[in-house]
Amino acid sequence: MPTTPDRIIVIGAGPVGLVLSLALAQAGLKVCLVEALGDDNFLEQIPRAGTNHPATLEMLDRIGLYQKLEPRGIIAPVFHYWDRHESKLIAAFDHVHLKNDTRFPYVLQCERIKIVEEALAMARAHPNIDLRLSTEFVSFEQNSDGVKARVLNPAGEEETIEGRYIVSGEGARSIIRKDLDIAFEGFTYDDRTLNIEVAYDFRQHGYAERNYISDPTEWSNLFHWKGPPDRWRVHFPTDPKADESALMQPDALQARMQGFLPTGKPFNILGSNLYVVHQRVAARFRGGRAILAGDSAHVNSPIGAMGMNSGIHDAMNLADKLIAIARNEADDGVLDRYARQRRHVAIAHSQAQTIRNKKLLSEQDPAVRKRNHDELRRTADNPELARKFLLRTALFDSLRAADTIL
Ligand SMILES: Cc1cc2nc3c(=O)[nH]c(=O)nc-3n(C[C@H](O)[C@H](O)[C@H](O)COP(=O)(O)OP(=O)(O)OC[C@H]3O[C@@H](n4cnc5c(N)ncnc54)[C@H](O)[C@@H]3O)c2cc1C
Repeated sequence: MPTTPDRIIVIGAGPVGLVLSLALAQAGLKVCLVEALGDDNFLEQIPRAGTNHPATLEMLDRIGLYQKLEPRGIIAPVFHYWDRHESKLIAAFDHVHLKNDTRFPYVLQCERIKIVEEALAMARAHPNIDLRLSTEFVSFEQNSDGVKARVLNPAGEEETIEGRYIVSGEGARSIIRKDLDIAFEGFTYDDRTLNIEVAYDFRQHGYAERNYISDPTEWSNLFHWKGPPDRWRVHFPTDPKADESALMQPDALQARMQGFLPTGKPFNILGSNLYVVHQRVAARFRGGRAILAGDSAHVNSPIGAMGMNSGIHDAMNLADKLIAIARNEADDGVLDRYARQRRHVAIAHSQAQTIRNKKLLSEQDPAVRKRNHDELRRTADNPELARKFLLRTALFDSLRAADTIL
């Protein structure tokens, strides 16, 4: 009688699918990794995540990816909170306070596209990973023994791939989540975020590599990425009623930049895009042999850099459990623990924190703004309070909380 091949099917070669596949393959498990993009367009993805927190760096180091990323990124121990209204630095947080907590007392500013490029090269070279590029996942079915994924191969023909489990690393529009009829609970902000990438050295104005800038009318974020050419990303809120093409006109982008920093000279704008921000968490992270991870399970505002980071944490948590099952060290019930742990983190940490972050940056009430800024200053200036604050923002608290969930 034919038996189900002992392999894990991972859909999506984003950061989550790739990290999961590498962790499984390095432990000796067979993986089939399915990705809709191909060699011709894999690197043409819009700019997204890029701040990698210390806890994530530890995980990337475990799978040998950190070494490849460090030379392509910027080591950034310090981040800033600014008051744009008064053009004042409110507080500088230095990850040096975490030097006894981690081997990586800094964030690595390294964009998602570089992460997936390096990880894809590692996946391609690994004998345990059957990498299927230009292959679109369409649907799946499961029984008590395994799963069957239906895909369209590069020739456009239908194919069936069989395995023990299927993991959705498909991102926010996960077909697996929809097929399992799992609600994506939460809300979508009215305002879209405008992202402008410029070649300009903001350090000459006192900014750090990573800055959160509060303002009652136009909060902002400012991040530095390694080139060539070096680029800085600036985020702005937009009027929900504004027309998309008007927002993206070159003159409108220049006006936004001049409003942010009036240099009197046009900025060298390298790119721009507009995106909708959601705060949503899947009602369940598991349906039998199908498991959700990363953006397929949760999406949140990028303020605080929690999306990709917590997705990679999902991937490593799940990898350890699938490895334990394959080695007969655990039964399949551990996947329910994965779901409990990571869903708790998505709601109580990533979502709660990013909602707070947005509120902090856009606070309207002057008295509350002053109180918030005084509190940030007091926290940054006190080493013990600063360490506690950084343990939360660098996601160590979320991992410790997950560990306590049985
Ligand atoms: C502007 C912006 C800035 C951000 N900044 C940050 C940040 O600084 N830090 C942070 O932590 N997070 C940030 N995020 C969030 C972050 O980008 C995501 O959380 C992260 O990319 C999710 O990874 P993923 O692997 O789950 O999904 P994705 O990155 O969405 O990857 C999904 C993959 O699956 C493939 N796929 C989808 N459907 C199919 C299919 N049917 N068949 C085959 N393949 C398929 C896709 O082609 C893609 O390669 C940001 C997001 C945005 C929009």
